[in-house]
Amino acid sequence: MTTTPLNQTAGRPARSIASRLGRLLSCAMLAMAVTAAVPASEALAGDVVILNGPRAQSWHTEVSRQNKARMARDLSQIPADATLILPDRLLTPAELDQLQKLPASVKILAIGKSAYSTNGKSPARTLGVGKHFQYIPLLYPAWLKYDMKKYEEIARWAAQNNAQGIGVFSLTHTLPERSEQPNFEVVRDVFGAYESWKKKETLDAPRSPGLKQTPTVLFMHKNDTVRTGPEDAVAWAKKLSANTLSVEVSRVRTRGVYPSKFTQHEELEYQGRMIKPENDLDYLPRLLAAAKEADVAVHANIMTKHTMYTTRPDERQVMASDFASGKDPEREAPCPISGARHYDDMAAIVEELLQLYPQLVAIELDEPRIYNRNWTDWACFCKGCQQLFKERYGYDLTPANVIDTPQFEDDEPDKRNNRKNAKQTINSDFAQFRTWMMNELIIEKFRRAINRVKPDTALIVWQPRTYEAFGFSPSSILYGVSVFGPEYMDGPGSPRYLNHPDAFSPRFERIAQIVNAQNNEKHELSAEIARVDLFHLARPLFWGEAEDGSKWSLLTQTLDERVMYVAFDPTTARNESGELMKTILEWISR
Ligand SMILES: [Zn+2]
Repeated sequence: MTTTPLNQTAGRPARSIASRLGRLLSCAMLAMAVTAAVPASEALAGDVVILNGPRAQSWHTEVSRQNKARMARDLSQIPADATLILPDRLLTPAELDQLQKLPASVKILAIGKSAYSTNGKSPARTLGVGKHFQYIPLLYPAWLKYDMKKYEEIARWAAQNNAQGIGVFSLTHTLPERSEQPNFEVVRDVFGAYESWKKKETLDAPRSPGLKQTPTVLFMHKNDTVRTGPEDAVAWAKKLSANTLSVEVSRVRTRGVYPSKFTQHEELEYQGRMIKPENDLDYLPRLLAAAKEADVAVHANIMTKHTMYTTRPDERQVMASDFASGKDPEREAPCPISGARHYDDMAAIVEELLQLYPQLVAIELDEPRIYNRNWTDWACFCKGCQQLFKERYGYDLTPANVIDTPQFEDDEPDKRNNRKNAKQTINSDFAQFRTWMMNELIIEKFRRAINRVKPDTALIVWQPRTYEAFGFSPSSILYGVSVFGPEYMDGPGSPRYLNHPDAFSPRFERIAQIVNAQNNEKHELSAEIARVDLFHLARPLFWGEAEDGSKWSLLTQTLDERVMYVAFDPTTARNESGELMKTILEWISR
């Protein structure tokens, strides 16, 4: 129901009405005086229009002290000079549409859940915060047998399907002597042309701050850092038209590339033999210096199956085949439940990296996995997983209970044997359990570590495009993944690997402090805020800090200062929100 300020005042004490009348009169007189005395650009801001929703009345009360305010039932008739307030609720699809069409002169204050909508889309493009899918496919010349025509074909398809950038694995495979095919020339030309292949409307699509508008990524495997010096690597990137270097930094058991608390100096056991790590602790600092000079962005790559320390057998992911044989798993990959401490180590290395080198624009998780082999063998059946699964679902976690193996009973025995590798399926409980582990116990851990140091850093995940085989799902974007990097593309593929249908829903974070993003001053503020990603279109004014020290967007403003977003409704905590409200109300009155 649309209500006007006049009938809204019905229940108020008389004093308030009188003072409102007084204010209206003095405002009117002031407006006349202002019109006469100052240029139009300094005239009072237009009316404030509050869209109906929770606490719209409180906002009316707040802004009425300074501005003329009214309520609105919908967004169809917002005056061009108005300030619009979107209350703390999901937008409807119609409102999303109308919001996009508003003239650029309308200022917008968006609150809490209004960065999300009832149909799973996010108005990130307008607000500069929210959710948005970003993709950078990582193509492998060697995987394509150096069929460079195919390389270009896939890259063009990716650009048409809104992938923001493109990558190549790895430096070695771009060296002309690696192939009879024109690998170097094709990658260079694809990188050079990629931006011109993108659709116009996606050029300025929301992207993580720090990422290049069109990232062209040269991946550097650990062995590439052995073969190519840091300055030479940057020079090669420039020759290749790569504007971004992704470099493996965390495989400390074989090679340290910066001075870390995890650096190993002595001989150690690695995959059953004694080795001495091939350290070059100046490598990353020198690479960063050369990259800065050359305007090349640097991503730090964390290879998640190479933990800082050896995993014990009882910490490892147990495949269905291990479960059947009863043998200890050979694969070192830690289970996020039984081997959680190894993910803690990797998260700690991320924290350390961003503290030492804040110029890193992205952290990359390389192939975080709940293992699957060829759709015929699944993890994890370790003791920790068994216990938790049973508590949660009420029955035993065994391969027989959760994996369906096609039987082909009608086939003759020899034919049946040929099909022993036929694709298995898993039941919905196990699929949910695996996805939960990936999101809550892996992705979330890394996102929180990043946010303890530099919350606007992108988290990129390289993963084979068969995401779901590894416990991965598009919903991991809600847990802090910024960019999906599908790997091993062997042809222009199904758009489901890029452009997942948007389905974002708010998740919440309990904060204990408010932190001024400029001067780092902190005050107590206890609130539950909606989690949003911050994109290049906006900057933070205040962070909300959780008890573990991780920071989350609390109050942001677009660079053109047209839009503000506050991640919860500050009128619900009026006593603690003084500074926030002051900033918001001053901006409204400007
Ligand atoms: Zn497990």
